[in-house]
Amino acid sequence: MKFVSTRGGADAVSGAEAIVAGLAPDRGLYVPETLPKLFGEEGSGFDLADVWQRGYRSAAEQTLLAYLSDYTRSEIETCTAGAYDEKFDTAEIAPVTKAGGAYFLELWPGSTAAFKDMALSLLPYLLKIAVRKTDEDKKIAILTATSGDTGKAALAGFADVADAEIVVFYPSAGVSAVQKRQMITQKGANVHVFGIRGNFDDAQTGVKNVFNDGQFAEELAARGVRLSSANSINIGRLVPQVAYYVNAWLRLIASGEIAKNESFNVCVPTGNFGNILAAWYAKKLGVPIARLLCASNENKVLTDFIRTGRYDTKRGFVLTSSPSMDILVSSNLERLLWHLSGGDGERILDLMRSLDTEGAFDAGDWVRTELSDFYGGFAPMQRSHAELAGLWNEDHYLIDTHTAVAYTVWKEYAESTGDRTRTLIVSTASPYKFAGSVAITLGLGREEDEFAYIEKIRAHTGVPIPYGLMNLDTKPILHGEVILRSEIKEAVSRSV
Ligand SMILES: *Cc1c(COP(=O)(O)O)cnc(C)c1O
Repeated sequence: MKFVSTRGGADAVSGAEAIVAGLAPDRGLYVPETLPKLFGEEGSGFDLADVWQRGYRSAAEQTLLAYLSDYTRSEIETCTAGAYDEKFDTAEIAPVTKAGGAYFLELWPGSTAAFKDMALSLLPYLLKIAVRKTDEDKKIAILTATSGDTGKAALAGFADVADAEIVVFYPSAGVSAVQKRQMITQKGANVHVFGIRGNFDDAQTGVKNVFNDGQFAEELAARGVRLSSANSINIGRLVPQVAYYVNAWLRLIASGEIAKNESFNVCVPTGNFGNILAAWYAKKLGVPIARLLCASNENKVLTDFIRTGRYDTKRGFVLTSSPSMDILVSSNLERLLWHLSGGDGERILDLMRSLDTEGAFDAGDWVRTELSDFYGGFAPMQRSHAELAGLWNEDHYLIDTHTAVAYTVWKEYAESTGDRTRTLIVSTASPYKFAGSVAITLGLGREEDEFAYIEKIRAHTGVPIPYGLMNLDTKPILHGEVILRSEIKEAVSRSV
């Protein structure tokens, strides 16, 4: 399997090379040249018995091998054994729970209590092997812009990894108190964390500019440093995410919830479009996913795009109670468009140029036909908060504010279309990670101190607090610096 750039201007590379590079040299994103198929008639088969027996790791190994054909089975097994272990609160790794008429795929039993752990527990292992395979002799510096959850998961994954530095930039006013505290208390000799005055798009654009600065890359190379990324622009982030859809499907069959050939819908709370793209890859692998419901909050650029074919970021940026989805430029959409265009790099380059210069692009009519598997919907805060409270009151199932956006979009979709297909709603964070919004939504009153909400929710609901969020408020602050977007490059330079 080779990986090519979405913008058509770079050589095809191996999986290991794509993982080390992060972004392609022509600023495109690496995509698998062809989409593997594991299930169904053309499928090369999947060892189901092994998945029943060994669980999540087996599903992950078989999925990873389908894309990363330059890794040996034993290398992949080393990665999954290191990643999916006791760091996760449950041996199931990614449980599926039935509630509110749907199935919730819980992706937050990892060490930072959000779904980014699923990929970022694995990426350091994939990268370490990739460095060896590609004879890279430089130290790898991982640069990451975060809307909150990626940052902590990347820090936890890369802390004290040999021959690596990890540098994280977060919007200083755009993350929750819990998210911020998780990041600025991270230990590790190779850990660097900076707040940015601005929103997530400012942080992401600033980091992209550093990646695109050829002269800076040369300066760093002279110092023996090579930049890479732990953001979902790195294909090593996406491939591990395909696995949890495979695993969830097999679990739904095993528990008798769906029949072997029965298809189901997925509904994904979406920001940078990585998670839902992984669902689409899973569909292409042969997992019988019927429709993909793309759920947004008030920053509904994707809803509008799926409905009209026009992607337009020229609008107000809304700060919501689902900050990890407060995004106007969803990087991974570029990958989907490349696949849907039949691999037309020139066309993608045109669209991305228009996005850079005009803040918008019109994909044209072809895209609406090709997007027919997708449904775009959005949930305003008031609606999704009401659904969160309703699900707790009626079913005693507690979800976070991001998952509540997806739950709301699914309910409205099912009502308006009459589609009763069983639906897997992707639950992307523990409710404790967004404790303030969740507590206020449950009517538990306001507190001065954000951390007081955690105990309040526990006392009210009895839902256990994830171990990664315990005693956060008493940990020492190690990284308090806040900088301007224009200072990102300088911060990188002195960190690595
Ligand atoms: C990152 C994140 C999202 C958005 O996922 P994408 O892959 O960027 O679409 C949704 N919910 C939570 C809690 C997240 O951390």
